[in-house]
Amino acid sequence: SEMRHARVKRTKTVCTYCAVGCSFEVWTRDRHILKIEPTHGPANGISTCIKGKFAWGHINADDRLVSPLLRKGDTFVEISWDEALDLIQQKFTEIKQQHGPDALAFIASSKCTNEESFLMQKLARAVIGTNNVDNCARYCQNPATEGLQRTVGYGGDSGSISDIEQAGLVLIVGANPAENHPVLATRVKRSHKFRGQRLIVADLRKHEMAERADIFFRPNPATDSAWLNGVARYILDHNLHQPQFIQQWVHHFDEYKKSLEPFTLEHTERITGIPQATLITVANEIAAADGVCILFAMGVTQHTSGSDTSTALSNLLLLTGNYMRPGAGAYPLRGHNNVQGASDFGSMPNLFPGYQKVDDEDVRAKFEAAWGVTLPTTTGKDNHQMIDAILEGGLKSLYIKGEDTITSDSNANYVATALSKLDFFIVQDINFSETCRYADLVLPAAASLEKDGTFVSTERRIQRIYKALDPLGESKADWQIIQLIANRLGGNWKYTHPSDIMDEIASLTPLFAGVTYERLEGFKSLQWPVEPDGKDTPLLFTERFNFPDGKARFYPIEYRGPSEAQDSIYDLHLNNGRLLEHFEQGSMTRRTPGIHAMTPDNFVEVSPELARERGVTTGTHVKLRSPYGEVRVQVLVTDRVEGKQLYMPLNSVDEPVNRLTSSYTDRATHTPAFKETAVNMTILPNQ
Ligand code: SF4
Repeated sequence: SEMRHARVKRTKTVCTYCAVGCSFEVWTRDRHILKIEPTHGPANGISTCIKGKFAWGHINADDRLVSPLLRKGDTFVEISWDEALDLIQQKFTEIKQQHGPDALAFIASSKCTNEESFLMQKLARAVIGTNNVDNCARYCQNPATEGLQRTVGYGGDSGSISDIEQAGLVLIVGANPAENHPVLATRVKRSHKFRGQRLIVADLRKHEMAERADIFFRPNPATDSAWLNGVARYILDHNLHQPQFIQQWVHHFDEYKKSLEPFTLEHTERITGIPQATLITVANEIAAADGVCILFAMGVTQHTSGSDTSTALSNLLLLTGNYMRPGAGAYPLRGHNNVQGASDFGSMPNLFPGYQKVDDEDVRAKFEAAWGVTLPTTTGKDNHQMIDAILEGGLKSLYIKGEDTITSDSNANYVATALSKLDFFIVQDINFSETCRYADLVLPAAASLEKDGTFVSTERRIQRIYKALDPLGESKADWQIIQLIANRLGGNWKYTHPSDIMDEIASLTPLFAGVTYERLEGFKSLQWPVEPDGKDTPLLFTERFNFPDGKARFYPIEYRGPSEAQDSIYDLHLNNGRLLEHFEQGSMTRRTPGIHAMTPDNFVEVSPELARERGVTTGTHVKLRSPYGEVRVQVLVTDRVEGKQLYMPLNSVDEPVNRLTSSYTDRATHTPAFKETAVNMTILPNQ
């Protein structure tokens, strides 16, 4: 047993299931994962949720990719890395020569490391010569970033997760942290229960946090910016705002005031369906609270007005002086473990790492000097534009790593048509994903436990992961694969470890100037911005906002209705979100007799009133149809949803909700309006 014990290895890592960024030690013996032990996590202390603790099965799963796969007709054959790299070299060179560098595009992963995100954009820009590079924040978080950059200058959480406990009031808008950010939600639950923290939830769906809330209200779909403006106007009308804070710190007050004029209580109630009395209570609570944190996620962002709603929410915080102190501010709750980092480290069509603009000549000159190349000058295509460009004929080749585009992008049938038209399509992942089915070449990547690197969590916290296991089979770390490709194309890169990559990033990026692997040793972490001497920034705004003059800006927005209102043909509103975790915890299985017989992710939530009207019960098979496609699912009757609103989990593989969602997007960022979907429901025969 001493021998066995000697083979047990303890390695510090960071959870890959959400952006709370829980860190812990993983105990391994050979390839066996023995246990997860949280000890000193800066975000989580000694806590984890059920996912971080148990959901590591993917590491040794049967469908792990263990060698490169080449398409031969309708099947795939294993090939060597040399053959794969030969093919990439030949195809990329050919396409670039024939159609120019902008005929190629690159999609980075919000699950991979910062160093890998950096290399993906460097491959696109410095080696191929295109700014066509993006990441999956385009599907979720870009509007949150946009709204905050417009108003306070940085797109990140205003403070730390632990600061949220100090807020007098937590307002959650369009987010479901109890299921999606469990360890963060626990802190809110605790403060609410034991410290008298007030909790207000605005959501279409009565989820766990809504059930706990002091005030819960359901705005009509896609009307959040209207009630935020209505509440702001009431606060102004009753002199409940913070004139001194505004005078000292915020520009454009008069324009903002003017933009709020239409939002009388009557008008706001008419748009949002929220009773005037509720609007007044919410306004008074916000104005009276000793610190307000607004937590928000995809219920806000995945709309045609996603950026505007994020903006309205930040405007309201400025109006009430809720920035520049712990326990106040905006907290966009990032989803994937490194969705923050994928954008921070430059996999964006308009931005180098650290939000430096590609069309800024000085910035470009700096990168050109460092990399010894001439860089493209115009903004590239984002994910959404890439799909259109394939169908229009301009985009010939796509290289995606760690992103299951076919299930995560909206309007799946349209996306599938596009992906089938590519001349050369590479998908790099750890498992054979749905998107791999469309690939010409599949590359096997290492999992997080099989490599070194860093992630950035939702609270802007940069943390290291350490290699616990060797990559399975012939799989390789993404950074190594990208380097092999770059060097086949004349890149001459010589990174021997991800720390080399981080050193280069730090030298080129003021936001990360003081980031080094030594400063991130073990459980140490840094919250950006990080100054050259290593001083980091737990509270984002203390002496200034991130604009040249240090002042924030009110940014007036206009309310505009949803892209797809219900009509006589598509008469129901379909919402979606994550829910899978719920089943793993079994809470729904316990509460709902009969549901355990169903395929867990294959159902639609229907309100009791709609169920009565349509004559359906839990278990009834129905077809949902939108103008873009259809799915077949079973009904789950629940008062979590109300009236003519339906809800489906978004990760269903067999009957994906994204067959129903449209190609409408947020006006500012092209994030799909996943949450603005109109459908109809018919009962399938032969029940
Ligand atoms: Fe992982 Fe998020 Fe759970 Fe923490 S809260 S263990 S980061 S899934």
